[in-house]
Amino acid sequence: MREMQTISENTRQPAAHMPIPGHIDPVPVPREVTPREDGKIDLIGLPRKQIADIFAEAGLDAKAAKLRAKQVYHWLYHRGVTEFEAMTDIAKTMRPWLAERFVIGRPEIVEAQVSNDGTRKWLLRTADKHDFEMVFIPDADRGTLCVSSQVGCTLNCRFCHTGTMRLVRNLTPGEIVGQVMLARDSLGEWPKAGGTMAGLDFDDDDSEAEDDGMYTADGRLLTNIVMMGMGEPLYNFDNVRDALKLVMDGDGLALSKRRITLSTSGVVPMMARAGAEIGVNLAVSLHAVTKEVRDEIVPINRKYGIDELLQACADYPGASNARRITFEYVMLKDKNDSDDDARELIRLIKQYNLPAKVNLIPFNPWDGAAYECSTPERIKRFAEIVFAAGISAPVRTPRGRDIDAACGQLKTSAEKKSRAELDRLAEEKQAALG
Ligand code: SAH
Ligand code: SF4
Repeated sequence: MREMQTISENTRQPAAHMPIPGHIDPVPVPREVTPREDGKIDLIGLPRKQIADIFAEAGLDAKAAKLRAKQVYHWLYHRGVTEFEAMTDIAKTMRPWLAERFVIGRPEIVEAQVSNDGTRKWLLRTADKHDFEMVFIPDADRGTLCVSSQVGCTLNCRFCHTGTMRLVRNLTPGEIVGQVMLARDSLGEWPKAGGTMAGLDFDDDDSEAEDDGMYTADGRLLTNIVMMGMGEPLYNFDNVRDALKLVMDGDGLALSKRRITLSTSGVVPMMARAGAEIGVNLAVSLHAVTKEVRDEIVPINRKYGIDELLQACADYPGASNARRITFEYVMLKDKNDSDDDARELIRLIKQYNLPAKVNLIPFNPWDGAAYECSTPERIKRFAEIVFAAGISAPVRTPRGRDIDAACGQLKTSAEKKSRAELDRLAEEKQAALG
């Protein structure tokens, strides 16, 4: 993901010096719970069981700890409250006990921007002062939140601005789920009292979601999540899984796994686990169909080649024609955009018999990038060839260009907005900036 210009310069270093990680996850293991100066524990990111354990350690007997944890969990993740005082079914005397020991955290907002096309972008900061970003893209039929998994990235895809940054650290489960919670705060989308998750086609087997109630939505419901922000989610597997479990839990944020997509540059050894333990939709940053070109632009290809990657896609549990694997393909002029490339892409998808769709992403240029975007005619021709083979190949339209939000994943088809909607967005923009 292309980061905001405001991210500190010292996080950058030349891409050519970055190592290609091996089978062992090379990134530092993050703290489980962010230690705070006041000694309080941030509950966000913790599952119900861990909240109960912490309550027991703090002095509640096992039965009370379990009951309180269940109540608090519901308030935290399902209702989105940020004060213990708001937890009305917890005894008044108990609430100060909680507030003295625990906090309900959110990432700090450094900057919030609203594009004239309605795209919103936030620059966020961890408690230990590392900046990362999150983007919300409203569309006619959905609202997609693009969530980060790491600050920086260990990989160094040559066309990606995040690839020019060193990895600062993995985001914790709390910082990952916290992004979704913050977006719901900003969009005013927590369920009202008595309400639940209406409108989300929540159909997980392991869910306890109810299907009535209502949102306090402002008309642009956050319906989908894509793990396509900064970082490689499969190099922060445990935290991404733990965060997404809270997002998918019916008594948590209650978003269906069918509305969540995880994008990987091709960390082959982790793909089967992602399918088994998370089970969300898979997107793969393919971007090239020959070893030579993919080695150059997505260097993890030198470790896990195209055939290995496509075999892992073929083995991905849950992939079907109804739940196809998305292949992201950035359009780079004279690099990966020829008719032959398109035909080879079709051949590979057919060879592995993959239920696939292809997202063609016009390259989003940044200062110092070694590539240019393919011409619109070239992209159109490429799309036609793939489409003629029976494979869906939409071209992503850039979004949020005026706030620099556009990057590979942050493009969805532009929608024509009514005058009233434009006025509303302009007002919101004023409010957000003012
Ligand atoms: N690390 C993961 C997810 C984050 S990147 C991955 O690589 O899949 C999300 C998508 O945006 C990837 O497909 C990535 O290759 C693409 N992307 C990154 N920079 C881009 C740019 N400048 N223009 C177009 N697409 C870009
Ligand atoms: Fe960018 Fe994704 Fe490559 Fe990391 S893995 S450098 S985020 S495209």
